[in-house]
Amino acid sequence: MKPPPFEYHAPATVEEACGLLGSLEDAKVLAGGQSLIPLLNFRLARPAHLVDVNRIAGLDRIYERDGGVAMQALVRQAAVEDSELVARVCPLLADAVRLVAHRVIRNRGTVCGSIAHADPASELPAVLLALGGQIVARSTRGDRTIPASELFAGVFETALEPDELMVEAWFPASRRPAVILEESRRHGDFALAGVVRAGERLALFGVAATPVLADPRDPARGLQPSADLEATAEFRLHLVRAAMRVACLPTISATTSA
Ligand SMILES: Cc1cc2nc3c(=O)[nH]c(=O)nc-3n(C[C@H](O)[C@H](O)[C@H](O)COP(=O)(O)OP(=O)(O)OC[C@H]3O[C@@H](n4cnc5c(N)ncnc54)[C@H](O)[C@@H]3O)c2cc1C
Repeated sequence: MKPPPFEYHAPATVEEACGLLGSLEDAKVLAGGQSLIPLLNFRLARPAHLVDVNRIAGLDRIYERDGGVAMQALVRQAAVEDSELVARVCPLLADAVRLVAHRVIRNRGTVCGSIAHADPASELPAVLLALGGQIVARSTRGDRTIPASELFAGVFETALEPDELMVEAWFPASRRPAVILEESRRHGDFALAGVVRAGERLALFGVAATPVLADPRDPARGLQPSADLEATAEFRLHLVRAAMRVACLPTISATTSA
C-alpha cells in the first residue's frame, strides 16, 4: 500500500527541525522509518507533514557521559550493536538491541526512534526504564530532560510534546547482574513478553500498555497484558513469570554479559 499524502521537509540542522515542528500543524519526525513508514502505508497514521531528520549532520554520535552512554537521535540500532563503547559501558543495551527485529531493520532503525515510538513490546524502552535512564527533548522553547520513569504514558504514547525532537537518550552503565530475556514466536519478531534485569531493578515488557518496573515478590501485580492472535493475556503472564524466575536465579550473573 502507498502512504496517504503528506508534505515532506528535510531540515539541515536541529534548530531548523525544531522550528518546523514548532510551526507546522500535525507534523511527525521521520527517523529510521521502520515503524512510521509501515504505519503510513497501512493508513494507521496520517500526519500532514513529515520532518525527516536524516540529513542533519553530526546527530549520530555515541558518547560516554556521567557514568553512562548517550546516543543522539540518528544513532542506528546496528551502530549500538557494533559499538565498543556500548559493549564496555552498557553491554545490556547491546544485548537488547540484538533482539530487535533483524540486522537489515537495525541498519535504519534508531535507538531514539524506538523509544519515541513506545511500542509496549519493545526492548529498548524497557532497558531505559530498568537502568533508570533519561532522554533529552528539544524544542524552540529549549531543552528538557525526561526520566524514563516519566516518559512512557501508554501504548505508543510518551510525554514528548508534538513539537519536541528527542535529541539524546542516555543509559546509565549496566549494573550486575544484567540480563534481558524474552519469548517471541520467531527470531526477530516482537516479543510476546520479556524481562530486563539491571541489578535489583526489573522491568517487564509486552505485558502492559508501557514497560513497567516489577516487584520480584509479586511480579503480576497491576499487569494487564493484551490478548491478540499471537497470545492470550494469561499466556503472556505465564511467560513473563517464567522469564522473571530465570532472571532472578542466583546463577544468572555468571551467564550474562555485564
Ligand atoms: C519487521 C519489523 C520487526 C521489528 N521488530 C522489532 C522488535 O522486535 N523490537 C523493537 O523494539 N522494534 C522492532 N521493530 C521496530 C524498529 O525497532 C523501529 O526501528 C523502531 O521502533 C523505530 O525507530 P525508527 O528510527 O525507525 O523510527 P521511525 O519509524 O522513523 O519513527 C517512529 C516514531 O517515533 C517518532 N520519532 C522517531 N525519532 C524521533 C525523535 N528523535 N524525536 C521524536 N520523535 C521521534 C516518529 O515521529 C514516529 O512517531 C521492527 C520493525 C519492523 C519493520
